[in-house]
Amino acid sequence: MSDQDVLNVINAVYVVAAIMFIYGMAQLRRPATARTGNRVAAMGMLIAIVATIFDREIVSYHFILPAILVGALIGAWMARTVPMTGMPQMVAIFNASGGIASALVATAALIRFNDAGTDVEVDTAIAIALGIAIGTVTLTGSLVAAGKLQGTINQNPVLLPARNVLSLAMGVIVVGLGVALVAVSEQTWLVIPLLAAGMLLGILLSIPIGGADMPVLVALFNSYSGLAAAATGFAVDNNLLIVAGALVGASGLILTTIMCRAMNRSLANVMFAGFGQSGAVVAEEGERSYRSVNAEDVATMLAYARSAVFVTGYGLAVAQAQHELRKLGDLMATRGATVRYGIHPVAGRMPGHMNVLLAEADVPYDQLYDLEETNRELGQTEIVLVVGANDVVNPQARTNPDSPIYGMPILNVDEADSCIVMKRSMASGFSGIDNDLFYMDKTAMLFGDARNSLRSLVTEVEEIIKNE
Ligand code: NDP
Repeated sequence: MSDQDVLNVINAVYVVAAIMFIYGMAQLRRPATARTGNRVAAMGMLIAIVATIFDREIVSYHFILPAILVGALIGAWMARTVPMTGMPQMVAIFNASGGIASALVATAALIRFNDAGTDVEVDTAIAIALGIAIGTVTLTGSLVAAGKLQGTINQNPVLLPARNVLSLAMGVIVVGLGVALVAVSEQTWLVIPLLAAGMLLGILLSIPIGGADMPVLVALFNSYSGLAAAATGFAVDNNLLIVAGALVGASGLILTTIMCRAMNRSLANVMFAGFGQSGAVVAEEGERSYRSVNAEDVATMLAYARSAVFVTGYGLAVAQAQHELRKLGDLMATRGATVRYGIHPVAGRMPGHMNVLLAEADVPYDQLYDLEETNRELGQTEIVLVVGANDVVNPQARTNPDSPIYGMPILNVDEADSCIVMKRSMASGFSGIDNDLFYMDKTAMLFGDARNSLRSLVTEVEEIIKNE
């Protein structure tokens, strides 16, 4: 087979892989087909990697094969061991890996051109500069996001004096170095300051962003990692990298837009407003009175309710209580109650967090309601069970213009006849602000770990059924 024949076969396989990516992504739109979509896209990536291994430009396999093995082992280990609550950090680390990989490949492409004494075309040099700049911003920005989500870095926004001017200046430096690299691309050393400036810019962009805005930041860096990959694809003339990078770039951007809409904020506000600073509004326990109930009382209400909405949040993920919640829902449904699960787009710590958890517990898809659908039902709902959710049900978002979450669309659980909130204490949620819902007359608090409380509720409801 001639080199050209091999290249043709590789490109044909790339087209198949690209179709599998697109098909896989389309399948992700519905929970029922999402698993298949994921498998199809992963399979597409596998055949793309295998095809790439046959590239005739590969000089030696000594590093490639062990790297594939080590990468696959780390990936498999992470997939098995990282808890559901650690998923957002894992996504952030994947984005960081994508960013650094693109920056390194773009750097290697430049070194290769210069070592061979080949002139670098302007469009290729632009792609190399973009791959390095966006890749390094993504690397450090994502690592800061992962650190904040993991709690190893302070989750409050770090607000340096004149931070926006500083970021702007660093942005100008990155662009300037990129332009210089394009103008004198034979000066390979220029890559070093560009790499350093890109990394600094990533840090400057992410440290002022507070915990509550992490979903947007992770989605945005996801998009950046795709753009870096696409730019690098142009640099090394790899069609699949361009297609895959563009897909990730576009989907990340769509996700970012959805997240911003879910919080009723503009991207500029998220990036530059320093939202979620410490000391915004902190709950002061004891100042306002609330009602606490026990599992027995709640079980009686649930056993005779005709309609219920379960609203889940980050606490459900921490407690891993999805299976117990589903058991409770099933019990109520067998007694004729209409049971719905209301899902807020930013509930939990990553986009789609609740969908994943509830799907894992095999909650029927037709019982999953999104924000708008749930809000349409809440006015006619007898009882709402809020399980480990806080910010996403805080009426301050509607009522208090001074609140940092004002304007964020929430699940209007306070419109239901009654509301039970299950959490361990009166502590605030991720945004660090007090929740007016907890102090309303129609609300009762059921304190305890969500899984233990739900277990008690299931036992109590079963007891009621048995004694009827
Ligand atoms: P919140 O963080 O607002 O509240 C979660 C609540 O769960 C806490 O108040 C906590 O209270 C309770 N909790 C924790 N552990 C347990 C447990 N074991 N059992 C019972 N309750 C528990 O979560 P929400 O899901 O309501 O809101 C999501 C927030 O996170 C939003 O501010 C969003 O912007 C942000 N965010 C979202 C991301 C996303 O992509 N979805 C990513 C990053 C941030 P207590 O300690 O008293 O038990």
